[in-house]
Amino acid sequence: MRLTFLGTGDAFCDWRVNYNNNAVIETAEGLVLLDCGLTAVQSMRELGLSVHDVAAVLITHVHADHVTLAPLLLERFYGGRAGPAFQPTRVYSPPDVMTDVRRCLGPLFAGINGPEGGPVPGGLAGVLIGVPAHQVQVGGLRFRFFPVPHVSDGERDKPAYGVEIAWGVRRVLYTSDTTFRREWLVRVAREPDVVALFHDCTFSPCYPGTVHTHFDQLCTLPPDVQARITLMHHVAVPDGVDIRAFAGAAGRHQAFEL
Ligand SMILES: [Zn+2]
Ligand SMILES: [Zn+2]
Repeated sequence: MRLTFLGTGDAFCDWRVNYNNNAVIETAEGLVLLDCGLTAVQSMRELGLSVHDVAAVLITHVHADHVTLAPLLLERFYGGRAGPAFQPTRVYSPPDVMTDVRRCLGPLFAGINGPEGGPVPGGLAGVLIGVPAHQVQVGGLRFRFFPVPHVSDGERDKPAYGVEIAWGVRRVLYTSDTTFRREWLVRVAREPDVVALFHDCTFSPCYPGTVHTHFDQLCTLPPDVQARITLMHHVAVPDGVDIRAFAGAAGRHQAFEL
């Protein structure tokens, strides 16, 4: 299984330095995107990957660096070597996230023209095949969404999920955006079938109301747990910061063979 990062930056990073934290997995059925932010299509171009080979997009939550789907949907629909391919895009997310995805994109795709020249019946539904699901199987890989605490209004958490990727007896955990959960991290990092654990990390000092996990917090974990964690969503490791206790910090366009 090969997972390649389209970017490992945050929502606001300088695109000359890094792109939004999204990833692509190559499967026998085609490419699977883990999130699709503002920079996903450009990053795929740089990697020599075609948007027309995308079999599925998994969306973890509704933030712009994870769900700016319009460029991908439009290029798959109107782009193509021999004219518009009119390819709809299959998108999976848990039902609460899918409701928000449709709500965000609906007005953008109302009245979009299709192969017959007139508006595509159903508007957004003609270009986005939204599948509300907590798990899906693509190309021999099993993908399962698990809830993570990310943004809370004080009473309720915004729907946000990580993704578990499983095949054979192996699993990879990809948190997407999450606040720090010590007990969970200690538990899953020690499970022997987890071969990689990609975790949200920001290098800014921890502040009240943070919606991410801070490097300072990860540094309080036992050494054997730190050694299992690959940092992501960090933009860049600041000069002088020692990350040798961790498995590493993923970089833009870095591929992991797992
Ligand atoms: Zn993010
Ligand atoms: Zn987020």
